[in-house]
Order: sequence, then C-alpha cells, then structure tokens
Amino acid sequence: MSLQGEKTKALFQRATKVIPHGVNSNFRYWGPDDTFVIQRGEGAYIWDVDDRRFIDYRLAFGPIILGHADPRVNQAVAEAIQGGTLFAWTTPGEVELAEKIVKMTGVDKVRLTNTGTEATMHALRIARAYTNREKFIKFEGQYHGMNDYFMFSTASANMGMLGSRRSPIAAPATSGIPKGIGEYVIVLPFNDIEMLEKTVKARWGEIAAIFIEPVMGNAAGIMPRPEFFKTIRRLCDEYGIVMVFDEVKTGFRIANGGAQEYFKMKADLVTYAKSLGNGYPIAAIGGKEDVMMTIDPGHVAHGGTYSGNVVGVAAANATLDILAKEPVLETINKRGRTLMKGIDDILTEQDIPHIVTGLPPMFSILLGIEEEPREFRDYIAGDGDLYEQVAYELIKRGVMPDADGREPWFLCAALSEKDVDETLNIFNDSVKAAKK
Ligand code: PMP
Repeated sequence: MSLQGEKTKALFQRATKVIPHGVNSNFRYWGPDDTFVIQRGEGAYIWDVDDRRFIDYRLAFGPIILGHADPRVNQAVAEAIQGGTLFAWTTPGEVELAEKIVKMTGVDKVRLTNTGTEATMHALRIARAYTNREKFIKFEGQYHGMNDYFMFSTASANMGMLGSRRSPIAAPATSGIPKGIGEYVIVLPFNDIEMLEKTVKARWGEIAAIFIEPVMGNAAGIMPRPEFFKTIRRLCDEYGIVMVFDEVKTGFRIANGGAQEYFKMKADLVTYAKSLGNGYPIAAIGGKEDVMMTIDPGHVAHGGTYSGNVVGVAAANATLDILAKEPVLETINKRGRTLMKGIDDILTEQDIPHIVTGLPPMFSILLGIEEEPREFRDYIAGDGDLYEQVAYELIKRGVMPDADGREPWFLCAALSEKDVDETLNIFNDSVKAAKK
C-alpha cells in the first residue's frame, strides 16, 4: 500500500535521479512509496500533484501561521521586490521589522538571518564570546538546527546511544561530525531541576549557555514544569550563563511575544524563524542589550549575504502587522482547543491509552501512555508505531499531520470550524481503521 498517487510516484522517481532520496531535507523523506510531491497550497490546505487535497497540519513544520499563500503577505512581497532584493546595506524595511520584533517580544535588539539553523549558530557564538566560555547545555530530544554543535541527542539520535538517565551521553544524530565537537555539549534531561542544579554548580565555569526549546516542539510538545524556567533563570543569573530560548517553533505562535510572553520569562537571547515569515525564509536573533552588543565588527562575527534581504523582510513585516492587528492566535487557540478535546474524547471512547500534550497552536498526541510526559525518554515509551498507522489512515482520508509523533500538529488561522469538524470525523474513522 502506497500513499502516492500515479503522478506523485512518477515525479518522485524523477526526483530521486537528481536529488539524493528525492528530497531537499531528510525530514521530508518517508520512503520510496510514501513521500509526497506537493503542487500548491492555499489557506489550510495543500494539494499534491495528483490533485488530492489535504487539510495540512504539518504546515511546513510550523512556519505557516496565517495560511498558505496568504494574499496580503504575497502582495507585500510582490510590491517590495520591484525595487530590488539585496543591497548589502541596511534598508528601511529592516529598521521597521526590528522595531516590530522589539515591540512584540520585549527583546532590546535584533539581528536578522535566514533560517533557524543560522540563528542558533550565531546565538551560540554570541553566548561564547559574551562569557568567554566554550561549552553549553542542551536538553535531550531538543532540536536547534543542523549546525554540528547542536546535532547531539536530538529526537533523531540513536535511542540506544543516549546512555543512562543519570549520566546522559551526547549522542550524535548523524555521521560526519568531528568526534571532538561532542565534548562541548552537556546533555541533560528536560525538566530535571535537580540534575540541572548539580551540573551547573559543578561546571559553571565551562558553561557559556543553556539552550532551551520552551515547549518541546521536536518531541511531542512536551511542556516545562512550572518551576523549571525559574530555576534556569536563577542559575544563569547566579553563574553568568546566557539563557537562550530557541523560539524557532514557539515564536509568534504560542503568543505574539512567544514563549517569553506565554511563560512570563525573560531569556538573554532568543532565536526566531518559522512563523515570523509565514513561509518565507527569515529568522532573527534577539536579546538583551549587553548580550546582543557582544556582536562587534572586527571582533565578534555575525553576518550573511542574504541576512535582511527584501523578500524575507517584506514577508515578516506583513505577517507581524497582521498578527498585531487581528486576533490570529486567538482564532488558532480556539480551533486548537476544540481539536485537542475532540481527539482526546475519540481516543477515550475507543479505549486507547493516550495523552494529548502541548498547546493548542502546536499540540501532540501520545498513544500507549497516559501520564504527562516530562522529558524525551517519556516520549520514547509511547506507541510510535500505532501513531504512525493512525497518521497514515488520516492522510489516506485527506488530513495530513506528520507521521512521526514527535512533530506536533500545527494550526494556522485559515483553518475553519468546518475543517476542525471534518478533521475530527476523519480522526474517528482513522483510529478505527488503525485498530484493525
Ligand atoms: N530550532 C528549532 C526549535 C527548530 O524546530 C528548528 C527547525 N525545525 C530549527 C531550530 C532549525 O531551523 P531551520 O530548519 O530553519 O534551520
């Protein structure tokens, strides 16, 4: 049984002849028979090349916050590019955008980049230069982009290599990373206050930064314990460590001011991407004045030919204007709450142990466990195979979440109440089919 229609199959085969595995990012590869080729998107829907429509809950892994091909954003970009796209000078659009980000998120200063990977890479350098220390703490199951330093103990690392919980190993998620890089990475379980305190107290002189995905957007939307961020904030203040919120998934999605607003917590550095541009490539590093001013021409590097390019900047300016003026996240939250509750009810009715995690704009469904997961190792205990079966049944019926349960369901403002009803009906049928 294949998820691919005839045209998809043919085009994907063509793709594999010239693109390794037929995809431009490994996360999109679902094998030779199940990888999609998408023709277009509009609002909450995408269509594959066989013209089959799907209600899209992958939303390109999160960026689409308004809806696909939002005409207001497209119009802003179309107008802006008539005057050229790249000058290697500051443009008025960049000034406007930085002002908007500052106002919305509460950071003091902003530098623009193009992708989340670039943003976190630069954030790490800034933190190292600011503290004159080299190592950093990251949490198991968290993802901070493709940079070598962060590709340890992510949700795609080999589970057998994570080590014991008492003494986690920085497990490489890929070949091709020099062995020595792992020595700069201190890996800990998320939400474990005691282990964090012990580690920081013993090793603070080596630690430049603590990188945090505030909601585990790459591990089933696992939520922080109420006291966890307060502890991190206190330890960072006490030991001069840079607290970095990686808000690539949460930024401009769980609140206009992201996780800082949602959790009433101020980080020293924050990275944004995804929802900032509603699908256009744009990212940002923001932070407190003194930390951001570590960037210093000739001494501490940040740069990039395409940083602040007209396309991404125009898209982000339009997206943030819409977020500021319209109840975008309110709508998304309302729909998300209905979906979470509906899915919870269906699974209860069908007698499948489960828990719905995360927040309405980015939630996840864990099958086979009923206790609130606190860290990545709790996620692994769930029934990922059953989840994948349910996802495949959903997709066959026109609802497309990711088949990997670690990836949350993302919602956009274009998703209607009717779409939510349709999704829940299809979810009910899909669970029944998967149980068989
Ligand atoms: N940080 C987080 C939290 C992410 O989820 C991602 C991408 N999924 C990245 C960084 C990397 O962003 P990009 O794919 O734009 O490089």
